[in-house]
Amino acid sequence: MEINGKTRLCGLIGNPVEHTLSPLIHNTLAEKMGNNLVYLPFPVEEKHLEDAVAGAFGLNILGLNVTVPYKSAVMPYLTEIDKLADEIGAVNTLVRSEEGYAGFNTDMPGLFRAMQSDGVKIDGESVIILGAGGAARAVAFLCASKGAKEIFLLNRSIEKANEVAAEVNALYGDKVCAMELNRFRELPKWRYLAIQCTSVGLYPNADAAVIEDEAFYEMIHTGYDLIYRPEETRFMKLVKKAGGAAYNGLKMLLYQGIIAYELWNGVAVSEEAASEILDLLKEKVSVS
Ligand code: NAP
Repeated sequence: MEINGKTRLCGLIGNPVEHTLSPLIHNTLAEKMGNNLVYLPFPVEEKHLEDAVAGAFGLNILGLNVTVPYKSAVMPYLTEIDKLADEIGAVNTLVRSEEGYAGFNTDMPGLFRAMQSDGVKIDGESVIILGAGGAARAVAFLCASKGAKEIFLLNRSIEKANEVAAEVNALYGDKVCAMELNRFRELPKWRYLAIQCTSVGLYPNADAAVIEDEAFYEMIHTGYDLIYRPEETRFMKLVKKAGGAAYNGLKMLLYQGIIAYELWNGVAVSEEAASEILDLLKEKVSVS
């Protein structure tokens, strides 16, 4: 692509950002779709976060993604926050307006689009969410808003699980039941969609799963792990061994990026382009 006087800039702020796959997603999309745009990572120190947002606006940067640890911390520096991002309490995409940046959350719509593309539904399902961190919190809102029948949210520290359950239940009724992780044997013996939102099993600790007991996996018809490094996590292996279907978080990463790209450029990315980029991401993850 030729960089010229009309080239727009988008990027990622966070710390660290060295291992991000987002430049691959956005720069490939720009090339494929013929948008004159470049995407770069920007490592930002906490004390410079406000300056980074103001500086990006001053430099006419079109949009930014925001990653850990700033998804909530960035919110006071925005001129507008989308309803879903506000509800979840986390922003991962900034879209430039006349006055400043509007904040969106594309992680959850990204996961939803990934699940739809894999033929996994939430509506009417009994769901187990493993974890109560930033990702699990957003997944709990997603599942409640997309019609899950009931949600069991299991976490090592019960206090965090209780907090998330209380926040979601305040908006959606008594959908979420918080449980301590090691009490999973008390779950009703139903068939569940399980969404793995802890950091257990993430590379380089790939031989770990947050629950090892094979009896747990007998209850899981579908397992979705938000982790994508390694490509097949131990959680996924255990789900498959017990006869369930298992998916990793790479498509979620892809679609959160695609939705951000669509917001910045006012375009719709085709499923054909999405699948080509997914292949590139798979290649990258398998060699890194
Ligand atoms: P986080 O806020 O740090 O939460 C981490 C969660 O993991 C907490 O629930 C924590 O439990 C649990 N945990 C950590 N170590 C544990 C252990 N040894 N035993 C049991 N539980 C443990 O992280 P996050 O932002 O929610 O991210 C979670 C995972 O999702 C990460 O692996 C991240 O890479 C992945 N993710 C993927 C995407 C994607 O696009 N695919 C997007 C976002 C996140 P406690 O509360 O008890 O500490």
